[in-house]
Amino acid sequence: MNVGSRPRMDQAHVPGEGRGVVDPTLQTIRTEVAVIGSGPGGAVTACLLAEAGRDVLLIEEGPFLPLEATVPFTMGEMISKYRNGGVTVAMGSTKVAYVEGRCVGGGSEINSGLYHRTPPAILETWRRDYQVDGLNDSDLARHFEACERDVSVSLMPGALPPASLKLHEGAQRLGWKSLEVPRWFRYDSPAEPNAVPRPKGDRQSMTRTFIPRALYSGCRLLPNTRARKLRRLGGRWHISAQVQDPGAPRRAIEIEAGSVFVCGGAIQTPAILRRSGITRNVGNSLKMHPTVKVVARFPETVNSSAMEVPVHQVKEFAPRFSFGCSISSTPYLALGLSDHPAHLGEVHANWPRMAVYYAMITGEGSGSVRGVPGFSDALVRYAVTPQDLADLSDALRALCRLLFQAGAEVLYPSVSSFQPLYTEADVARIPDGLPKGRTNLMTIHLFSTCPMGENPRLCATDSFGKVHGHDGLYIADASLLCTAPGVNPQGSIMAIARRNALKFLGQL
Ligand SMILES: Cc1cc2nc3c(=O)[nH]c(=O)nc-3n(C[C@H](O)[C@H](O)[C@H](O)COP(=O)(O)OP(=O)(O)OC[C@H]3O[C@@H](n4cnc5c(N)ncnc54)[C@H](O)[C@@H]3O)c2cc1C
Repeated sequence: MNVGSRPRMDQAHVPGEGRGVVDPTLQTIRTEVAVIGSGPGGAVTACLLAEAGRDVLLIEEGPFLPLEATVPFTMGEMISKYRNGGVTVAMGSTKVAYVEGRCVGGGSEINSGLYHRTPPAILETWRRDYQVDGLNDSDLARHFEACERDVSVSLMPGALPPASLKLHEGAQRLGWKSLEVPRWFRYDSPAEPNAVPRPKGDRQSMTRTFIPRALYSGCRLLPNTRARKLRRLGGRWHISAQVQDPGAPRRAIEIEAGSVFVCGGAIQTPAILRRSGITRNVGNSLKMHPTVKVVARFPETVNSSAMEVPVHQVKEFAPRFSFGCSISSTPYLALGLSDHPAHLGEVHANWPRMAVYYAMITGEGSGSVRGVPGFSDALVRYAVTPQDLADLSDALRALCRLLFQAGAEVLYPSVSSFQPLYTEADVARIPDGLPKGRTNLMTIHLFSTCPMGENPRLCATDSFGKVHGHDGLYIADASLLCTAPGVNPQGSIMAIARRNALKFLGQL
């Protein structure tokens, strides 16, 4: 397509649809910088570049919905803000179910907001093995601090959720390290008059923070638009994309940019690059935090329809594994009991006394992302190793012990055909190495498919996210994290995106 020959170009914005949303009928758009994907990596990048006066177009496959368009952690939210309604799986002898956000703001719109900085020991591994320059604790400190201010990282005021406190209580009895994890939440903003009810406080997702800032600074937003392929022509990047406005037929759009930041997340970024023939160290090294769940029933009430997001994590065994309490609404309890169908009735009868807990390992396994001709979804594979199954087993045993110490009367681990546990002595029934194929693993943390660094054997980009061997092409998302960080990753993704955007602007 001859960019520039179309009658309707650039600058047009749809009146009334909000500042910066691009006229969806355009057929070609020219921009200085295109950012593909508006999750934490893409939103931070687009915002900083727009605030520095760059002409930025932010392209997002999913819809532009306000945070309060859906009630958090409901089926409605999964249908409208998750990729494939939340049904996605990494194939392998032990499958791992995973989920990704697919909306303006990406995963930040649907997550729990639990915040950690990257542990110094992890940064040390990245510097040593991947030869990442400029990634000391002190190099990152100012980026962490800035992002923490920008998204209001803070502790939960008032009484903490009882199911979360149970975890803390069990850890204290065993003398294990447990902490309240801060979140990107503001607790001072009053609920809007007609808003759908949501838990106390206001999650500082990307649509609440970096995206409005980006739009205010002139960034243009193209939602419902899937970038399919990139190609380099005449020293510029051309992005073939497809607009998928709800209720309208799909149509092609061509975007021409001087520089492109690919920020589709750890699965979609390598998928886009591989579709475009960019394959060196791309999509070969998927890492994740494989997670096993346990549903616990206590003698007293620990759950309610107004329960806040649980905030405690047990870090006694980190980085090998950690525990936490999950969202425990009735659909999540029912899902957690799907390995114990004879006990599903418990959810209806006893849900106020029940909650879901997880044990998450750092994981030494690895996986890949590959395109499949004729399919829009990539094939994701992940090999859980025998050591991972052993770590999961140790983690599950320790978590079950802790929950019995906290007073649980029955535990249902997410392992098919496994009898429920009724006493601490039953914990010994958990085998060394969880059974392959029968253990139902999931993850919400995916990374490392395009590692950054100067090690030519391992890295897809340089130390600051520029794709090796490709001028004007950058990555800024979870794909860059060299290995699994062992902690909730969004803090690392935002800080590294900020550092790399400032490097691009010559302001680092
Ligand atoms: C349920 C859940 C709970 C979580 N809880 C926490 C937590 O408490 N704390 C924490 O730190 N982390 C949490 N995470 C993880 C965190 O949300 C992710 O690590 C983070 O969002 C990843 O950021 P990203 O920028 O790499 O990609 P994403 O957030 O995945 O954003 C990528 C965006 O790119 C878009 N995109 C993809 N492909 C294309 C394409 N071809 N064209 C256009 N757009 C495209 C996607 O639609 C998406 O919106 C959670 C995740 C989930 C799913």
